[in-house]
Parts: sequence; structure tokens; C-alpha cells
Amino acid sequence: MSEQVTNGGTAIRRPETVSRAARSREANPSGLEPYLVVRDLEVTFPTADGPVKAVRGLSYSVPLGRTLAIVGESGSGKSVSSMAVMGLHNPQSTRISGSIRLGGHEVVGMRQEELRKLRGSTAAMVFQDPQSSLHPYYTVGKQLIEAYRAHHNVAKAKAAQRAIEMLARVGIPNPKKRMGDYPHQFSGGMRQRAMIAMSLINDPKLLIADEPTTALDVTVQAQILDLIMDLQRDFGSAVVFITHDLGVVAEIADDILVMYAGRAVEYGQVNKILGAPLHPYTWGLLESIPAVSGEPARLHPIPGAPPSLLAVPSGCPFHPRCEFREQVQGDLCRTETPDLIPRTADTSRTSRCHLREPDRVFETTVLPRLP
Ligand code: SF4
Repeated sequence: MSEQVTNGGTAIRRPETVSRAARSREANPSGLEPYLVVRDLEVTFPTADGPVKAVRGLSYSVPLGRTLAIVGESGSGKSVSSMAVMGLHNPQSTRISGSIRLGGHEVVGMRQEELRKLRGSTAAMVFQDPQSSLHPYYTVGKQLIEAYRAHHNVAKAKAAQRAIEMLARVGIPNPKKRMGDYPHQFSGGMRQRAMIAMSLINDPKLLIADEPTTALDVTVQAQILDLIMDLQRDFGSAVVFITHDLGVVAEIADDILVMYAGRAVEYGQVNKILGAPLHPYTWGLLESIPAVSGEPARLHPIPGAPPSLLAVPSGCPFHPRCEFREQVQGDLCRTETPDLIPRTADTSRTSRCHLREPDRVFETTVLPRLP
């Protein structure tokens, strides 16, 4: 429902000094033991126009049984960073630095053979387009069996049994018969289910889902989201869910990390961030979604477009699009990149903005609220 708060006069003051302890908590909003820990991740690609730094100093963590949503517009670095977690970039052309620890194993610098073992057994990824994971020339059953046998030394019949169980588990009717079908014989929603079955066949501890419902119609989207949440409960996995849809985030995620121009700009628990965001970009994302039930649609898209990663604006990269930069003293927004640190007394959440007392600014700003 949309909520209007009148402007009561915004005082802009210096924030409390951020303690060292608060900074050390910046990348773990839940405080639980993390299974995936990303620290100071940088990903750089060469292009014809020069190197592009697609991810800059990214840090986050995800414990088992918890879901982190990574949110941002195209080109924000959300998919590129997740591909790095899976070790899917071409090591010849992509420069990756920082640290990615998965169940205690360091992924950055790992040999390709070890990475292959890790993928499938410890971590799996579901993509927006199932065609990118399912081979069109092989039956779904053969692909599931091979995915299982790649990590388990078992006879074909046992692997087939496991494959049928997984197809049944993801809600594919008549799974034994469907084992013999090719991917093109499945509907879009069923193909996505088959890919989820393939991702989970080896009980991975980490599942990365990259916009897995974007290409599906609304009813199937809801079914796939329910399925992922059910499976997470059953398997107790850590889940990273990449999306641009804040409605989906409110529905399924525990924590949220908002990315802009390759950096995290706001990070914390979903109920806190969506209830009272502290970064103008997150405010903009919330204002860009339609109002809910009974309210007339009220859309305020963020002006302008995300910057080219070849020419990221100086200072705060969001400054050319930000209507709040006038509230920051001097030329700070244009000249200095803000740190990702706690900005209020609540040290479990961080944001990257020079605004003093952003919670006050938020309270005096008209924003729609998610249900
Ligand atoms: Fe806007 Fe300045 Fe905050 Fe950037 S640092 S989001 S330009 S107010």
C-alpha cells in the first residue's frame, strides 16, 4: 500500500562514528555462520574499448538455510559476480581477485578440474534460460543420469532411479516416461523444473538461481518460486537469488544486496531494507514498482540509465541520476565514492551514500510499501 508522510523539515547532520566492530559485521546481516563468503571481489574483462571492471570490491556472505537476493538493473554486476562464485568465467580472459570461500574452500585461483568437481557436488546454478543448461540432443533422463554419475560412482540403474525421484520431486508428472523425452518436448515451465532437478541432483549446499522465473508466465513463476523455497527447506541449502523484481525479493529472501555499477550500495535483512531503505537507488527501485491492491498504479521510474562500465561516473556512480545529491554538503557526491558502512544505529545493515541521517530523509519521502 502506498504511504504518504509529509515533509517535516529534514535536518542533515554528521552520522555517529562507525565502530570497528560495526564495520566487521557489514557483510553478515544475520550473524549466522556463513557457508559462502565473498570478500573484496573484483572481476575485470578485456573489451575492444579497454578493460571493463564489472564487479568492484564486492563482499557478502550466505549461511546454510538462508536466501540472499542480489538486486540491480542490467549491467550492475549481479550475474557476473555469481558466475565468479561458480568459477564459470574463462580464466584466460577474465581477471578475478579477492576471495570466494565456499564451504571453507577458496574458489579464486582454483584449478579448472577442482572447480568442475565443486560445481554440481557443492554448488549449482539455475539460469533464466534452461536451454543453456539442457543439451537439445540428449534426453532429459540421460542428462540427469550423467550429472549424477559425474559425482557418484554408481551403476546406471541406480542413477536412473535417483533421476526419476528428482523429476518427481520437482513436480514433473509421470517422471519415468518423461525421462525419455528431449528438452524441446517439455513446456517452458517443465524445462525449468527439469533444470532445477538437474541442479539439485547432487544435493548442492549452495544454489544460485539467476532470474529463473523471468521467461515464464506469472502462474508458472509462482510455482517455480514455491518449488525453490520448498527445496531449500528440504535440502537446507544456501540460496543466492538474482532478480530485478523486488516483489519476488519480499516473497522469498531473508537478506538483500542491492548492486549498482558493479558495487553493493545497500545490504542487510530484507524486512529492514524494504521496510526502510537507506540508499536513494533502493528508494528509486521501490518507486519503480506498481502500487499494490486497490491503489492506482503510481510509477516513478529512476531517471536516466545505468552507466556504461567503461565510463563509470566519478564519486558516487549514482550521482547523475540522484535527486538527493543537493542534500549532501559540497561536491562530495561527485568527487568521493562513499564507503559501504552502517549509516544508522542499526549496525547489521550497511549502505553506500553520503547522506547524513538517511533514515530521516527516507521518512520524509513518499514511497510505496511492499505488502
Ligand atoms: Fe545520491 Fe549522493 Fe547518496 Fe550518491 S552519495 S546516492 S549521489 S545522495
